[in-house]
Amino acid sequence: MAYLQLQGIEKFFGNHRAIKGVDLTINQGEFIVFVGPSGCGKSTLLRLIAGLEHIDGGQLLLDGKDITHLPSSKRDLAMVFQSYALYPHMSVYENMSFALKLAKVDEATIRDKVERAAKILNLTAYLSRTPKELSGGQRQRVAIGRAIVRAPKVFLFDEPLSNLDAALRGQTRVEIAKLHRDLGATTIYVTHDQVEAMTLADRVVVLRDGLIEQVGTPLELYDRPANQFVAQFIGTPQMNVVASQAVPQLAGQYGLPVQADGFVGLRPECVSLTNAGSGAVQGTVELVEALGAETLIYVATEGGAMLVSRQNSRTALRAGDRVGVDIDVAAAHLFDAHGRITRK
Ligand code: ATP
Repeated sequence: MAYLQLQGIEKFFGNHRAIKGVDLTINQGEFIVFVGPSGCGKSTLLRLIAGLEHIDGGQLLLDGKDITHLPSSKRDLAMVFQSYALYPHMSVYENMSFALKLAKVDEATIRDKVERAAKILNLTAYLSRTPKELSGGQRQRVAIGRAIVRAPKVFLFDEPLSNLDAALRGQTRVEIAKLHRDLGATTIYVTHDQVEAMTLADRVVVLRDGLIEQVGTPLELYDRPANQFVAQFIGTPQMNVVASQAVPQLAGQYGLPVQADGFVGLRPECVSLTNAGSGAVQGTVELVEALGAETLIYVATEGGAMLVSRQNSRTALRAGDRVGVDIDVAAAHLFDAHGRITRK
């Protein structure tokens, strides 16, 4: 069911067209994640939805109502920022209740809502503290709690975890996933983090230069990227993309319908290593990265391509070793010279 609809949304900063006519339909209860390279317009698009920036073209509809030019305070959306934006002199309780107080909600209802949100977020013991008496993760939970008590129609998150260290980031990510499962609130979330995008999203929106490149579930984007840009943006390490000419065996011996001036894309787990002399391609190990649960092995092929292979086991291979490279041909993505997919 269409809940939030972006129709031809445009944004200019001076002469710079930062958002170039974005169409997107978000369903009620969906968790949508915006990703894309720095400067592609993720935050701007979120701020346009929030009403923190003026929409220069197009329409924004929430639950059937045109909110394109409605002030932020009237949109019934709540935004959680990277910087938390808590009031430093107020207690956790006061921070969480502030918006309700402004809305003249009665004290008993406020108390009930704040206490319930605090319970969900494990903040009950901290309600009388001020933000400076909290850890970064606790502060971020207060910022989330402040959004929850308002029971907004849509939650907007702008890189909410990027100020946290790796461990806390992981824990808070899991909390946000649980929170979404429990509340079922429509959510739009901006992040640079691939793991957050892949694990939290019902659907991921990949942006590039003010336009949407592809929208899909995390695994759709991983398995069936619409083009080379999405293929290389989603997945860590990146998909190997090599010029067809560097791996002529794939067209010849393996019968892949590659274009002569095109490219072949191979996920690292679709490249495996074997004894020198066997396999599709021959090469030399350049670097081995042992990450514990998995190993990444970088191989320079005879055709001049660099391929990274991911395996779930340890290896005795070392830089300089000669190896054969086996390729899961069925899983190869083929692109033309412009990065358009020619075979999925
Ligand atoms: P990042 O991942 O680095 O945060 P982003 O994808 O969120 O990037 P935006 O912050 O939305 O990108 O910026 C999109 C484009 O608009 C960029 O080219 C940026 O320089 C420009 N831009 C953003 N805000 C303004 C502003 N207030 N004034 C002028 N240009 C702006």
